[in-house]
Amino acid sequence: MHLGHVRLRGHHLVCTHFYRGADFPGEFSRNLERVMTDFEHKGAIVEAGPDDLCVHCGRLTENGECKLEGGGESSIRGLDALALTLLQVGVRDHVTYETILDRIPNILVRWKQFACHDCDLCNTCRNSQGLMARGA
Ligand code: SF4
Ligand code: SF4
Repeated sequence: MHLGHVRLRGHHLVCTHFYRGADFPGEFSRNLERVMTDFEHKGAIVEAGPDDLCVHCGRLTENGECKLEGGGESSIRGLDALALTLLQVGVRDHVTYETILDRIPNILVRWKQFACHDCDLCNTCRNSQGLMARGA
């Protein structure tokens, strides 16, 4: 972590508003709750690659790449870039939870169109906080 702030990659700035720890098993879930508590209270530093959620994820390889099916690290970095562009923040920026929360309603149409449509977690988000009911 940087100066006590959690590190979050671009797409996690968006996705963590829709899924929460109860959606995932084990240590990933517990870590997600810790990270989100810190994010809400102290903000986060925008990370270019694997972040404080990835380090507790079984899909992170030893060489620091995401092995998620359907494109792996390069696909994930594409999502990160999309999130940063839509949110208008950059790598190494310090962002507050409130700032991101305020911007999310304005990006949801494009986020759902380009990020959520083929995401395996779609049902999780739909069921947890009404992602699919938000935005146009
Ligand atoms: S699936 Fe990939 S991007 Fe998501 S938390 Fe795991 S390692 Fe990180
Ligand atoms: S459906 Fe997938 S891409 Fe969309 S907010 Fe949820 S985790 Fe992120």
